[in-house]
Amino acid sequence: MRVWIDQDLCTGDGLCVDHCHDVFTILEDGIAYVVEDNQVLNDPGSSGSLAQVRQRHVPDVIKAAEVCPGECIFIEIDTPRDADLDGEVDGRIAARIDIRADLDDEAAA
Ligand code: SF4
Repeated sequence: MRVWIDQDLCTGDGLCVDHCHDVFTILEDGIAYVVEDNQVLNDPGSSGSLAQVRQRHVPDVIKAAEVCPGECIFIEIDTPRDADLDGEVDGRIAARIDIRADLDDEAAA
C-alpha cells in the first residue's frame, strides 16, 4: 500500500498523526505530510510524494483516512495482500482508494 496527502485540502488537525505517527507528520507550516522510513516526503508533496506503508501500519493508515476531516488522504493498493483489505474498507474512503492492476497479471497479458 502507498499513501499520499493532498496538502491543499488538509486542515492540519493532526488526526492522522494521532492514528499513525510513523506514517504521518505535521510540519512547521501546520500541514500534514507522509513519512517513509523516518523521512518526511514534503518535496514536492501531494500526489508527487507517495509513501510506502509497512504492512503493520496498513490498518492505522486506513483508519486515519476514514476519520480525516479534509478527506485528503489517498491510498493506492497494488499487491494482492493489500487488496485483501478492500472488503474491510469503510465506504467513506472508497473514492480515495486507487486499486492498481496487479503487475504480474499485466506482465502475463
Ligand atoms: S487527518 Fe487529514 S486533514 Fe487532518 S491533518 Fe491529517 S491529512 Fe490533514
